[in-house]
Amino acid sequence: MKWIGAHVSASGGVQNAPQNAKAIGANAFALFTKNQRQWNAPPLTAEGITAFQTNCGEEFSTGHILPHDSYLINLGHPEPEGLEKSRSAFLDEMQRCEQLGLDRLNFHPGSHLRKCTEDECVATIAESINIALSKTNGVIAVIENTAGQGSNMGYRFEQIAQMIELIEDKSRVGVCIDTCHTFTSGYDLRTTEACAATFDEFDRIVGFNYLKGMHFNDSKKDLGTRVDRHHSLGEGFIGLDCFRYIMADDRFNDMPLILETPDPARWPEEIKLLRNVER
Ligand SMILES: [Zn+2]
Ligand SMILES: [Zn+2]
Repeated sequence: MKWIGAHVSASGGVQNAPQNAKAIGANAFALFTKNQRQWNAPPLTAEGITAFQTNCGEEFSTGHILPHDSYLINLGHPEPEGLEKSRSAFLDEMQRCEQLGLDRLNFHPGSHLRKCTEDECVATIAESINIALSKTNGVIAVIENTAGQGSNMGYRFEQIAQMIELIEDKSRVGVCIDTCHTFTSGYDLRTTEACAATFDEFDRIVGFNYLKGMHFNDSKKDLGTRVDRHHSLGEGFIGLDCFRYIMADDRFNDMPLILETPDPARWPEEIKLLRNVER
């Protein structure tokens, strides 16, 4: 069975996210547990946490919810001050997930800002994850692959495997594959054959046992451009075969499949489209 949703708004409080997900016909969702453009946010309240759990009810279970951390955080920051700030903000994000009873947190691994090597950046990212895991319980750190824009790390499956290799508790590290990022970082997804080859490569280098969620996006940019511009499903360079492939493949069962497409008005029809091709 497939669990499909979108990155919905939590404006007004985290308890509004499940309601927004219900409204689009989703049975999974993603959210920010704080304002993603600010370093500091007020802590979650007991009322907010209870209301979130009540609103999730029986429709949304923990393993089908994929919180995303703030875009400001850089766990691979090459400078001590920026790194420290990122690590403490990331710990706060992990603790918010703990408080909400969520079991995974999705994040972009980090950037070297052209001030250290890629290998050094990967080591810093892994150390950041190890620190956060040692101070929390039960939340899986879910590394998202990137388009490789700027100095963002995680644009090759090998880099993600390298990060996982350095994580002490491998039961608490996972991966989120974003279709747009995968495609613009250079892995073809335009045909069934291309999808089979790309996901076989993912399985060989990283392993499907680490896959804890997917981001479903078409791409405004072409293969290998290393630019991150999401498009509505079927409107971009990837096309619909990729999503047909995933929806018919059991390896993508029982994890949140999350739209981050740019037009929220189209989410209900995009979810229906995916349901129509589900095997
Ligand atoms: Zn994404
Ligand atoms: Zn993106």
